[in-house]
Amino acid sequence: MSEAADVLVVGAGLAGLAAARDLTAAGRSVVVLEARDRVGGRIVNEAIGDGKIAEMGGQWAGPTQDRLYALAEDLGVATFPTYDTGRKVLHFNGRRGTYTGAIPRINPLVLADVGRAQARLEALARKVPADAPWTAARAAQLDGQTFQTWVRRNTASSSARKLLALGIEAVFAAEPGDVSLLHVLFYSHSGGSFQRLIDTTGGAQQDRFAGGSAVLAERLAARFGDAVRLAAPVSRIEVRGDAVTASTPAGQFEARHIIVTAPPLLAGRIEYVPALPAWREQLTQRTPMGSVIKCQVIYDDPFWRSEGLCGQATGDGDGARVVFDNSPPDATPGILLAFLEGDEARRLGREPAAVRRQAVVGSLVRYFGPRAAKPAGYLELDWQQERWSGGCYGTLFGPNVWTRYGPALREPAGPIHWAGTETSPMWAGYMDGAIRSGERAAAEVLAAL
Ligand SMILES: Cc1cc2nc3c(=O)[nH]c(=O)nc-3n(C[C@H](O)[C@H](O)[C@H](O)COP(=O)(O)OP(=O)(O)OC[C@H]3O[C@@H](n4cnc5c(N)ncnc54)[C@H](O)[C@@H]3O)c2cc1C
Repeated sequence: MSEAADVLVVGAGLAGLAAARDLTAAGRSVVVLEARDRVGGRIVNEAIGDGKIAEMGGQWAGPTQDRLYALAEDLGVATFPTYDTGRKVLHFNGRRGTYTGAIPRINPLVLADVGRAQARLEALARKVPADAPWTAARAAQLDGQTFQTWVRRNTASSSARKLLALGIEAVFAAEPGDVSLLHVLFYSHSGGSFQRLIDTTGGAQQDRFAGGSAVLAERLAARFGDAVRLAAPVSRIEVRGDAVTASTPAGQFEARHIIVTAPPLLAGRIEYVPALPAWREQLTQRTPMGSVIKCQVIYDDPFWRSEGLCGQATGDGDGARVVFDNSPPDATPGILLAFLEGDEARRLGREPAAVRRQAVVGSLVRYFGPRAAKPAGYLELDWQQERWSGGCYGTLFGPNVWTRYGPALREPAGPIHWAGTETSPMWAGYMDGAIRSGERAAAEVLAAL
């Protein structure tokens, strides 16, 4: 016997929960099937004692992420600004320097080189339609090269190339050779500009959520009671006549429509009967996830603040290349958030935990001095090993994927609809994009019903 609802939703991340909210508000019955034993997907809190948490997945919000701020307001979740007062650290080509503002104090010729390349990038990005990147002028040419190829042609110095690579690692958890130029342009336009993706105040890292971002998913899911089924990975979706059936170890569920919010890679691991159109199947063969290990290094207090540092650091050496002050609002304890991204996540992900921790703490000592050497605590989450994410922050589009398979990302296959942050024209890859995608898919289903 199958349980029945009007609509099934696969995944209780922000996309699935936003879809469920809108469908329920329109009077439709919904069951959300979630593989994990928790809601939130790529957002998750970890307790650090004293009722405090550290966020191990997505956490920041920034200007124009209107759907994310609206959800927080609706759920009564307050925001507070990311700590952004004081000097930043850049450890580059073996030398450490500090600076305020957006521009580090390094060789002006290198800065000009980076500035020229970024200005070209922003101008190209503005011309890529975020709702259909494959229709951009010269799309095949933009998509037929990696970002690395473009950078080689558009910079004069190896230092400029290294700085741009740091930006790509920070935004995609990948290397410049992992993504197509068209994907970087799409992604930049989707969030407004590349600069907005990397900025703290005024950019995607501007604000944080009181109690941690995961409370957004927890509070939203609480509204649906037992309509959210945990530990219910969907292994098979069968369409027969007007009905669609999802099979899980927690039983079978039947509805008229189903919204799949898992990232394309994981959506492709579900068995579909009848088989999906070939181009959708081939799309999901070409959508790997980024490589990131998120580390939270805990100190008794944020000692860097009293030294005039804001806790943000970037470097081109081993270990963490992007660091933020991630302390709770009352600054107790002090937390440095250290990202291992792209090749460093791949390399250190294969090392024993003690070696990885040493590499992370070692990079913090390079940035913040010997006081960083003895943390009071250390947490890490290797997203590469998360069965139900496959990696993070999101899907990487390599060469010739957007232009060959782009429309298959959102086009429904009969009663099967696709959501998830990857499918959003605005803020793709981010929490805001996830919410937008759930809202769009719910509207699509309501129109079809
Ligand atoms: C370390 C890290 C840092 C990030 N930083 C930020 C940030 O600061 N700001 C920001 O906006 N975004 C950030 N992101 C990205 C952000 O977290 C995601 O874009 C967003 O949470 C995606 O939501 P979603 O609902 O689209 O997908 P998901 O959260 O991945 O939800 C999909 C759900 O589907 C479930 N699922 C998968 N397969 C199946 C199946 N077969 N059956 C049933 N369920 C299944 C999964 O368990 C998951 O719960 C970050 C992500 C990570 C990991």
